[in-house]
Amino acid sequence: MKNLKQTINEIVNETEIFDIHTHLFPAEFKKYHLSGISEVLNYHYLIAELFTTTNINIKKFYRLTNEEKSNIIWEELFRKRTPISEACKGVLTILSQLSIDYISKSFDEINNEYSKLNLTDLQIFKISKITKVVMTNNPFDKSEWQLFNNKKWDTKKYLASLRLDDIFTNLDKCLDICKKNIDHFDNENDLIIKYLEKVYLESKPVYAALSLNNLQLKSFLKNRFVSDIFKWLERKNIPLSLLLGVKRQVNKEFLLAGDGIDKVDLNNLSEICNQYPNNKILCSCLSLNDQHELTVLARKYQNLKIFGFWWFMNQPSLIKLILNLRIELLGLNFIPQHSDARVTDQLIYKWFHFKVLLSNVLYDHYKEIQLKNFKISENQISDDVSKLFYKNTQNFLNLN
Ligand SMILES: [Zn+2]
Repeated sequence: MKNLKQTINEIVNETEIFDIHTHLFPAEFKKYHLSGISEVLNYHYLIAELFTTTNINIKKFYRLTNEEKSNIIWEELFRKRTPISEACKGVLTILSQLSIDYISKSFDEINNEYSKLNLTDLQIFKISKITKVVMTNNPFDKSEWQLFNNKKWDTKKYLASLRLDDIFTNLDKCLDICKKNIDHFDNENDLIIKYLEKVYLESKPVYAALSLNNLQLKSFLKNRFVSDIFKWLERKNIPLSLLLGVKRQVNKEFLLAGDGIDKVDLNNLSEICNQYPNNKILCSCLSLNDQHELTVLARKYQNLKIFGFWWFMNQPSLIKLILNLRIELLGLNFIPQHSDARVTDQLIYKWFHFKVLLSNVLYDHYKEIQLKNFKISENQISDDVSKLFYKNTQNFLNLN
């Protein structure tokens, strides 16, 4: 093998990626598909930063058009100040990866240049070496669910997942929708399962998902639908993905940019794994405080798999720390990252940033075992990276 560092970098950059959690939609589904530099700038990470860095009037800001908002974000965060935060660096990575010279330029000039590239979603997938992404699909949102009415998009690249949150937060609305779609049922449990069966056939989801705060996690196993939902998931052989620890609307005035972190009690996750050993559980936690315990839990259950660095966890300093911890405790038996992208272009920076961190962390670990006389080969590194980026996901989702 040539130089170890270079070999790892090359392999990490060339390996195909299976992105297990995104909020992307195919370009053909125009109403929901987001792309372009204006959408990138208008993301809630940057909006929260704008609100707390400047004294801008929040209500007035939200009344502006997307382009007007992007313009303000560009002027305030990228021209008047140094764009040094992770969210700002993400924008710089996208622009520099696409060779757009942004120095001393206004938002309009950049937007013009960017639009001329006419980037398609599949070109962006190619730049980032992404083969498959899992969407987040809400079967209780009639308008969004129209995606599955005509599948004139690449169903091998865009896989579905079923977001079940509404059953736990907006039950009356859910039951109404179920009743409109299902004619014969015995009781409400039967109704919900029959509706899930219907949307399963329409979308072929690779997992079902829920985002829970601590209170919701605590009462989860007592919910009257949970046991039937688990039985159904087991029959379908798909995992339940749990995103734990968002505290919604810490600051209501900020709207979408106003969510924060909740402290969660992971004993409840342990209990879920114990009570449903035949169900597979995917889990990502939002708070740094929960990462050590979560990683240890992943050593205790065959049916639990950790994935990704979610939202506030997706900061290089924390990734470095926790990625090392995960390798130390789990070897390569976890799914290291997901993009959570809502705007297709975000894939470029989310994966670019992570690949740099992963290469460095892997280098340190390979170097250490080399010092203990282990002979690491190029093939073995390729195989390891492929597990992390693709095969661990493929296997856990039973897609072999
Ligand atoms: Zn998400």
